[in-house]
Amino acid sequence: MTQPTEPSFRESVDLMFNRAVALMDLSPGLEEKIRVCNATYTVRFGVRLRGKIQTFTGYRSVHSEHKEPVKGGIRYAIGVNQDEVEALAALMTYKCALVEAPFGGSKGGLRIDPRQYDEHELERITRRFAYELAKRDMIHPSQNVPAPDMGTGEREMAWIADQYARMNTTDINAIACVTGKPLNAGGISGRVEATGRGVQYALREFFRDPRDIEKAGLTGTLDGKRIIVQGLGNVGFHAAKFLSEEDGAIITGIIEHDGALFSEKGLDVEAVRAWIVKYGGVKGFPDALHAENGAAVLESDCDILIPAALEGVINLSNAARIKAPLIIEAANGPVTAGADDILRNKGTVIIPDMYANAGGVTVSYFEWVKNLSHIRFGRMQRRQEEARHQLVVDELQKISEAMGNTYTLSDRFKQKYLRGADELELVRSGLDDTMRIAYQSMRDVWHARGDVDDLRTAAYLVAIEKVAASYRAKGL
Ligand code: GLU
Repeated sequence: MTQPTEPSFRESVDLMFNRAVALMDLSPGLEEKIRVCNATYTVRFGVRLRGKIQTFTGYRSVHSEHKEPVKGGIRYAIGVNQDEVEALAALMTYKCALVEAPFGGSKGGLRIDPRQYDEHELERITRRFAYELAKRDMIHPSQNVPAPDMGTGEREMAWIADQYARMNTTDINAIACVTGKPLNAGGISGRVEATGRGVQYALREFFRDPRDIEKAGLTGTLDGKRIIVQGLGNVGFHAAKFLSEEDGAIITGIIEHDGALFSEKGLDVEAVRAWIVKYGGVKGFPDALHAENGAAVLESDCDILIPAALEGVINLSNAARIKAPLIIEAANGPVTAGADDILRNKGTVIIPDMYANAGGVTVSYFEWVKNLSHIRFGRMQRRQEEARHQLVVDELQKISEAMGNTYTLSDRFKQKYLRGADELELVRSGLDDTMRIAYQSMRDVWHARGDVDDLRTAAYLVAIEKVAASYRAKGL
């Protein structure tokens, strides 16, 4: 965890922000306006459980309302506090700006260990928390739209959506009050995998430019790259799964709360996940070495390190020993500001959180648009697209026959080409496009400006400039 000598998470985010604005030409007033968190609402509420009243503390922080609604997840964890929620809300502002999701930044948290409660209890707690937030417009389709984060998922989002709908019976857009809902409750295909998928698309884009690969001291493609992942939750699991199954990467290490697994020949991500679900941890998993001290494995030799768990795991105490030449921050804030300085000086390339894990909010944006338009993506055009493709295939077939059948279209090609895109394909295409464009905007700044030597500063520059432009355009 973060060393006592290190700044808090929020201060860390501010320090990184300050590094970037020092290279910009913003008026000090505007700079301050963008940096500060607009409001944090703290709620303490009681729920009668197991015969007695238990009091819970929750937060919803709004960092910037330059665009509305504001957006960001709700986290359930015992360590949730105001500082953390404000840091995460600030990151949401920059994240949304960078990937051009038209939202301000917000974040929520409930101080709770969700594993201590059964489903029915969690539902009551969640509904009560949602009630407290909704009655103050902290959950609202046009003002503040939460989503899943650590410790929450589709189930909690469905309860929140239903709670809001009960309180706003005539709101035709009620379902758009929260994203990350299950498909049968107004969700969108591909939201669960979105953040991990975004990490995969981010790495693919990184490996498209030889200059970037060289900066990290790597060669070649993702194929055969040795990856260590910390945290096999929703984000880490999907990132590791897709990178190993689709890009030829080798998952040599998986770090979990009860230690780490290690295998030079590569771990079967699905099998490890199934083991964790069954036994509650990685211990005892066959076909791999087990290390008790998981955190030490962060320092092991690999090509790419993916911290996909908590903030502050790479800090002053271990940064100098991190061997990975490339780190992609799937979690929010895994590298402290102090560690960031050390790694930057060592030449480690870091693909920063505000970009690397933006896949989640990107697909949340698609879900919100779907909810507001009240129609599934692809419903109108899919069959029409197929019919037009059929025309081309029929015509080519005729030409081929006229030429004596010297060339015929393969069945595999026809099958792939004829199929109109469904919602999942459209979501993936939109996500891929978003991740590529956002990366390119960081890359341009990284390579073009002599005073920017890392992707994080580049990301902040692009994001802050967008937020500033929006404030300038509309006035404060
Ligand atoms: N909690 C996720 C994040 O940190 C998703 C937020 C959202 O979809 O609004 O980006």
